Amino acid sequence: MNVAPTILPFADPGAGYRALQPEIDAAVARALASGWYILGREGEAFEAEFAAWLGNQPGAPAMHAVGCANGTDAIMLILRGMGIGEGSTVVTVSHTAVATVAAIEMVGATPLLLDIDPDTYTMDPDELASVLADPPPGIPPIRAVIPVHIYGQAVDLRPIKTACDDAGVALIEDCAQCHGAMLEGVKLGTIGHAAAFSLYPTKNLGALGDGGILATPDPELAGRIAAIRQYGWKRRYISDLPGVNSRLDEVQAAILRVKLQHLDAQNDRRRQIAAAYDKALAGSRHLTPPVRRPHAHHVFHLYVLRHPRRDEMMMSLKAHGIGTGIHYPMPVHTQPAYQGRVALGPANCAETARAAQEVFSLPMYPELSDEAVARVCDALASL
Ligand SMILES: *Cc1c(COP(=O)(O)O)cnc(C)c1O
Repeated sequence: MNVAPTILPFADPGAGYRALQPEIDAAVARALASGWYILGREGEAFEAEFAAWLGNQPGAPAMHAVGCANGTDAIMLILRGMGIGEGSTVVTVSHTAVATVAAIEMVGATPLLLDIDPDTYTMDPDELASVLADPPPGIPPIRAVIPVHIYGQAVDLRPIKTACDDAGVALIEDCAQCHGAMLEGVKLGTIGHAAAFSLYPTKNLGALGDGGILATPDPELAGRIAAIRQYGWKRRYISDLPGVNSRLDEVQAAILRVKLQHLDAQNDRRRQIAAAYDKALAGSRHLTPPVRRPHAHHVFHLYVLRHPRRDEMMMSLKAHGIGTGIHYPMPVHTQPAYQGRVALGPANCAETARAAQEVFSLPMYPELSDEAVARVCDALASL
């Protein structure tokens, strides 16, 4: 009798806990025993350790980090800290987690969504230069640009930075998928004016709950945002600025301090798995490995393939017991909440729409065993 194979899951956050369980349990016990649960020593230590890790490349600036409740809030807090809100346009892409666009609207700013380069799925620098020189009619002045380093790979950031500097607009990196990725030898998140990181459980650096952290080389901006995340307090009970509540708790910070110690090794494991998938695809008639940007260090938050008959490919993999995902099935500008309402660049997001029909993601997490990776490789070679 034919027994359906157990499906290898596309993601497995529990495996991330089990792999480090003794260390994580000790960190949680320490945080619980401290009697202090919000914005205390664990959070301060995590911020300092994260900032040091981020800025530890030769040529990178010294960084300042501020923990917060989640990655969406990290973007929102950066925009608020820069005074960007109503009456401002913020440029990003439609091929992203909806969170990027939600954060722009949280501060009352107007999103303008650009298309992507079809090889790397990242913001098209030429289209950015064109909207900065000649903005679409009827939108407020452009004040910031948020490129998304999607799937763990760098955006083509040099021309984007030049265009932002020339136009006098802020460059904010969405680093929710790229903890540890680099471009020309420096970590992503150190090149723009500020960077937002999600610490959602499945991200390369993930809490066991919600969390976020933002980083900037500008100590004054970091200080302002640290106040805004807690009601605008610099002193207890006295709001110097209008603020919000978006704090990272001590238990999550203690867990994240453990996870940060393992991040570089876990990214190496992701790259090793990606190399195995690349090799297996050499035998495939239909699929080619993801394109690597030159001079970029990819950390494979996701390993994404594309094919015009994507659903067939996913079904074949499922028949081999391999789970897959789609990131993302519907461009932000076509989702019911945004359709017909958000401004698009002159390319009309045509490549974004095509990518949404064609992309799919393979299992990718550091705890995948060699045996599981071999199973995926065997399935890929048969496609
Ligand atoms: C996950 C993610 C976010 C939002 O992070 P949350 O922690 O879920 O709020 C923002 N941008 C991108 C590209 C993401 O992948």
